[in-house]
Amino acid sequence: MGNIDRTYLRYARYALQWGLFLFLFYAGYRFYFFVEHFLTQGTVLQGTEETILRSRFPSIEGFLPIGALMALKLWITEGIFDSIHPSALVIFVAALVLALVLKKGFCGWICPVGAISDGVWKLGKKIFGRNFTIPRYADYGLRSVKYILMAFFIYVVVLKMPSFAILQFIGGDYYKIADVKMLFFFTEMSTTTAVSLSLLFILSLFYKNFWCRYLCPYGALLGLISFFSPLTITRNNAACIHCGKCTKNCPSLLPVEQLRSVRSPECTGCLTCVSHCPAKGALDISLAGKKAVNPAFAAFVIVVLFWGSIGMAKLTNHWYSAVSYKEYQRIIPQATHLDHP
Ligand code: SF4
Ligand code: SF4
Repeated sequence: MGNIDRTYLRYARYALQWGLFLFLFYAGYRFYFFVEHFLTQGTVLQGTEETILRSRFPSIEGFLPIGALMALKLWITEGIFDSIHPSALVIFVAALVLALVLKKGFCGWICPVGAISDGVWKLGKKIFGRNFTIPRYADYGLRSVKYILMAFFIYVVVLKMPSFAILQFIGGDYYKIADVKMLFFFTEMSTTTAVSLSLLFILSLFYKNFWCRYLCPYGALLGLISFFSPLTITRNNAACIHCGKCTKNCPSLLPVEQLRSVRSPECTGCLTCVSHCPAKGALDISLAGKKAVNPAFAAFVIVVLFWGSIGMAKLTNHWYSAVSYKEYQRIIPQATHLDHP
């Protein structure tokens, strides 16, 4: 069958995920000055109202998934597209579509939290010489936590919250500056938050992708949707040389070498296994379990779908927030004391 080298897949993924991480870091930096502008009555960051509004990158709304879930319900039930944080909804829908196409491709290729998680366990491996695994019985129990969190949010937002209540919430001051509240979560960190994040960091050093594997409700939802994905990673036993590289390198700890096809909701579609497989035809992506798909093409589809959704949103005016300069000027100075209605 011969050998094959698909290392480029890993580099492409690192470039994409870390590139996006750096971009969002920059977006967060700009957003900090945007908020400061309103907190200091315009002494920080000067310009016309239009240039100030444009200094805020809408992509930061990607960190508002609960708002996006509410907005999605409103869009489906009432046909109203959230104009306050439209990009949150666009990014959320793009992630759902990606999960339908290639597993949790959003987690594996795009999510900046996934990139940090990846970096931290690799750092842990450098420090301790290896990563650790949680005993199987505890691992199953812990993995259910993210599904419980997901079920809670779906119950509260999708099942319990009526559409008119969502509409009211979206039109209120709290939601208009939900992104500012998110910024304060980091810039005005409480002791509880600092301790929790430090604990998470330490656990992530020891255990691969601790946050993604056990706690992330976003990933849990994408994992369930990924069951319906027609694309799966399939192992051809006849071509497999049983080197074990796929299992050894899978960040989701899946026993790829022993599987016929990877169906687990833990699979992030990162294609690390495929990129490490040295035997031609042993590990591929297949469409509906039959036709092999070039992994480079699958990665290309992820990029096109995600950035295509953003491009489409920009073209159709569903990307920039409708919150005006005057509204920010009125609400941001009271943000610290503004509580959830
Ligand atoms: S099975 Fe392959 S694609 Fe899925 S998480 Fe593991 S390494 Fe990534
Ligand atoms: S499928 Fe896994 S075990 Fe088989 S050759 Fe590829 S990397 Fe090695």
